[in-house]
Amino acid sequence: MPAITNKQQLLNQAHTVLKKRFPLPALEPEPPRPLLEELLFAICREGSTTEDAEAGYARLRKVFVDWNEVRVSTVQEVGDALRSLPNAGPRAGWIIGVLHAVFEMNYSYDLGDMEKKGLKQAAKQVSRYFNEKDLKSHGLKQAAKQISRFKQVNDFAVAWVVQRSLGGHAIPLDGPTFRVLRRLNVIEETDADDMESVRGGIEHVIPKTRGPEFTELMSIHAKELCVEKTPLCGACPLKNDCPTGIELLSKKPDKDKPPESKPKKSR
Ligand code: SF4
Repeated sequence: MPAITNKQQLLNQAHTVLKKRFPLPALEPEPPRPLLEELLFAICREGSTTEDAEAGYARLRKVFVDWNEVRVSTVQEVGDALRSLPNAGPRAGWIIGVLHAVFEMNYSYDLGDMEKKGLKQAAKQVSRYFNEKDLKSHGLKQAAKQISRFKQVNDFAVAWVVQRSLGGHAIPLDGPTFRVLRRLNVIEETDADDMESVRGGIEHVIPKTRGPEFTELMSIHAKELCVEKTPLCGACPLKNDCPTGIELLSKKPDKDKPPESKPKKSR
C-alpha cells in the first residue's frame, strides 16, 4: 500500500522530493522573450525539457534570418533545424502553422501589446491561433490543417504562455508530465480527453508561485527516471508512495539495492 493515499498530499510530496533530487537553475530567461517567441518556444518545449528546448530553439533562431523565413520554409527545412528535439517534423509543421496564423491575423509577427489586454483576453487571443474553426474562418486552411494535428498538445502551448508570459496561473501538461501523473495515480488514462479539467484539478493543488517549478520538475523527472518504456523506479525518490512504482518493484528485484548477504551456516 502507498504511504500517501491523498492525491493532494502526493503531489506536494512529489514536488518536495523532486526538488531535492533535481536542483533547478534560475527559470526565467534573461531578458524575457516577447509573447510570440514564448509561444514558439512552447512548441519546442512540449514533450521535452527546458534545457533541450532552449538548445533546439537557439538553433532555429540561428539557422533562419527571421520568423518570416521560418514561415515560408518547408517542414523539412524547419524540422532539420529542430532535429535535436523529439518529433522534429511535426513540431516544425506546428510552428509554421502558428506563424501563418499569426501573420495572417495580425499582418506582423509582433504580439507585443497583447499583454495589455488583460489575462483573459490575451489567453483567448492566443487560443485563436490554435483553433481550427477560427483559422478556417480567416481563410487559413493550411495553418488550420497543421494546427488540427495537435489538438491536445495545443493546450500545453496556451497554458505555457499563460504561465510564463501573461502572469496567470496555469500548469501546462504535456505527454511526459501526463505519464508521471498517471503513474502516480493522480489522474486517469481517460482524463486525456478533457485536458482543461485535468489542468484545473492540478492548478487547484499547485499554487501559482510553485507552478513554473512544478512544470520543470515533472519534465526532468519524466526524462531522467519516469521514462516512457520502463521507469527506473528503483532509483526514484517517490518509489514508496507511487502506486506504479510499488507494483513494479514488487514484481522484480530492486537492482539498486545491494544484494542481501546469505546468513552463515552455523556449524
Ligand atoms: S516510482 Fe516509478 S513509476 Fe512512480 S514516479 Fe517514480 S519512476 Fe515513475
